[in-house]
Amino acid sequence: MISIKNLKHYYTDADGNEVRALDGVSLEIKQGEFVAVIGANGSGKSTLARHLNALLLPTDGTVLVDGMDTEDENKMWDIRQKVGMVFQNPDNQIVAAIVEEDVAFGPENIGVPGPEIPQRVADSLAAVGMTEYAKHAPHLLSGGQKQRVAIAGILALQPECIVLDEPTAMLDPQGRKEIVGTVRKL
Ligand code: ADP
Ligand code: MG
Repeated sequence: MISIKNLKHYYTDADGNEVRALDGVSLEIKQGEFVAVIGANGSGKSTLARHLNALLLPTDGTVLVDGMDTEDENKMWDIRQKVGMVFQNPDNQIVAAIVEEDVAFGPENIGVPGPEIPQRVADSLAAVGMTEYAKHAPHLLSGGQKQRVAIAGILALQPECIVLDEPTAMLDPQGRKEIVGTVRKL
């Protein structure tokens, strides 16, 4: 599903100095695998995550997603539909004023036929245990519940691969438990 060969990503910082965030990473991830990448702050985890759906492109090396090269501009949208991203802060990922509308936003945006959307929303909310909150306002939910809604929003796009970048960093212990439980279940 993911094949990374000798990936390098160099940034230029504000002073014009080169920052070698990734310096020759190779990694293979098969369909169905559940992989954790662990490292200190600044070790390059987010940079690596952003390569998995072409939010960043290699300085050198290659990233293949189900055989598609992230540098192939024609494949960018196919890649982004295959790889769903969940970020740290659920508040930055929620766009609508009602939970079910928020989960429907992604599928509507990629042109999923209208009649198919309610089922996707229902299935996605069920998968994260948030069915009973479908009509609620996201901003009134706990951090863990909001992050589960954000995950449901990604599930509704039916990605084959989900990348979570420190999805529990902003959450309290209860919220962390909810997210880890949800990810294990998925
Ligand atoms: P992590 O997610 O493991 O904390 P990051 O991928 O965010 O690590 O960062 C890796 C390195 O790249 C750090 O040294 C960070 O300061 C640097 N970095 C990240 N983003 C940028 C950027 N946009 N411009 C310059 N340097 C960056
Ligand atoms: Mg990070």
